[in-house]
Amino acid sequence: MTNVDNEVLEDGIIEETEVNQCGSCGGNTVYDPVSRGLKCPFCGTQVEIEATRENTTEHDYLDALDHADHSWSDEKRVFKCDNCGAETLLDNDKVADFCTFCGSSHIAVTEHDAGIKPALVLPFQISKEQAVEKFKTWISKRYFAPSRLKKEYELQKLSGAYIPYWTFDSNTKSSYTVKIGTYYYVTVTRTVHRDGKAQQVTEQVRKIRWRTQNGSYNKFFDDILVKASRNVASGLIDKVEPFQLSGLLDYKTEYLSGFLAERYSIPLKEGWLSARNIIDQKIRNGILRKETGDEVRIVKVDTSYDGITFKHILLPLWISSFNFNNKVYRFLVNGQTGKVSGKSPISIWKVTFTVLLTALVAGIVFMVQDTM
Ligand SMILES: [Zn+2]
Ligand SMILES: [Zn+2]
Repeated sequence: MTNVDNEVLEDGIIEETEVNQCGSCGGNTVYDPVSRGLKCPFCGTQVEIEATRENTTEHDYLDALDHADHSWSDEKRVFKCDNCGAETLLDNDKVADFCTFCGSSHIAVTEHDAGIKPALVLPFQISKEQAVEKFKTWISKRYFAPSRLKKEYELQKLSGAYIPYWTFDSNTKSSYTVKIGTYYYVTVTRTVHRDGKAQQVTEQVRKIRWRTQNGSYNKFFDDILVKASRNVASGLIDKVEPFQLSGLLDYKTEYLSGFLAERYSIPLKEGWLSARNIIDQKIRNGILRKETGDEVRIVKVDTSYDGITFKHILLPLWISSFNFNNKVYRFLVNGQTGKVSGKSPISIWKVTFTVLLTALVAGIVFMVQDTM
């Protein structure tokens, strides 16, 4: 692997695309989350993007395993990070000089296929400036962080990245066996000793009578969402969810102008297995709601799935990190809702103080109760 042109890059991307040229000055327009159109960073000219949601085609899952639409490879190149393994997709004429996900500069272009083309994209609605503001509010609320943090952290560059997801639809037919338990009570007499005397007491004891029941459960599942990324920030991504998927629009290359996309690292087949687990759990919950009894236990569920269809979609995230005390802390901002999640340093002193204070308060309450 070799690095492509080592020009000085801003935000890891060379702004050299012919595709979205500004009509007034010839500069390159980029997607602007505020106006939700294209904007020229040089002269400010704005161009509308016609937002559409016509792509309602769900692709057949089984069919796609053999021949999906890979035409994305014509417009995107794949850069692979040697450090964390994440694969970044950029327009053909752009180059990445660092990995957005781990910050490593060991990133190089590969011949890898860009993968299945996304059908829908949720365009950024939070601008870079707004994301920085959200981050500042977040960091000011890190109560367990060292007090110096708020003044001394160094914010790194924010990158806007589209993260790959799969959504699946499926028809399901399940036949199942459950055990249904009904409570009944028996009176039991036993001997207890009180004040050295033996006494007979009677008690009601609960028992369960079980019967076996077979049934069927049919349900259509729509838009089961599965993350198709296992990048290093993956655990943090869960914490900035949910995304409002009603905002999904037809994929247009303009929405990615000035942003990058991550190539999915969880292939379609593996994505379906995760979706199937989610569906199976929902089916079990559905059966438990359907069957009434004092207790219901599932013995066996056999499900057949048919008409499985999928969509490849992209969701927006601002990714960055800050340095404090020579350590790097990663954080994310949801590009649609502005929700922040991240790691931050912890002051051992503040935590210890809080634990001691809590213990002290609990101790006082306990003593007060004890003397009452
Ligand atoms: Zn311009
Ligand atoms: Zn990396």
